[in-house]
Amino acid sequence: MNRLQKAKIKKLLHKKREEITEKIKQMRKDGSLGKSQKDASGDLSGYSLHMADMATDNFDREMQYGYVTAEHRVLYEIDAALAKLKEKSFGKCQSCKGNIKINRLLAVPYAKLCIKCQEKEDKKGAGMVK
Ligand SMILES: [Zn+2]
Repeated sequence: MNRLQKAKIKKLLHKKREEITEKIKQMRKDGSLGKSQKDASGDLSGYSLHMADMATDNFDREMQYGYVTAEHRVLYEIDAALAKLKEKSFGKCQSCKGNIKINRLLAVPYAKLCIKCQEKEDKKGAGMVK
């Protein structure tokens, strides 16, 4: 990978990072994220009033929580990729140590596995959340 390609990946990572940060911010503004945090911090005053809705409430919250976690995970992957960009290990497959193709990196700049290893991984862990 040459310096130009690296610079391009870096730009992509920053752009993606911004997108996701914005998404999380938006969810917070909607109250979807903020609400669950408030409940988690022990604000039970309004909670008991909605006992009947609790089951659906919980379900919604879990859905949101799962979603937010996925976003945060990508954010983590992006940060890890950005840190790795400074090292020589960037663009190397974590499994087979081969080079990850530039086209793959342009599509998924925070990819940790080459396409072959990713396919193997997908088959192995079908249905498993990674
Ligand atoms: Zn590989």
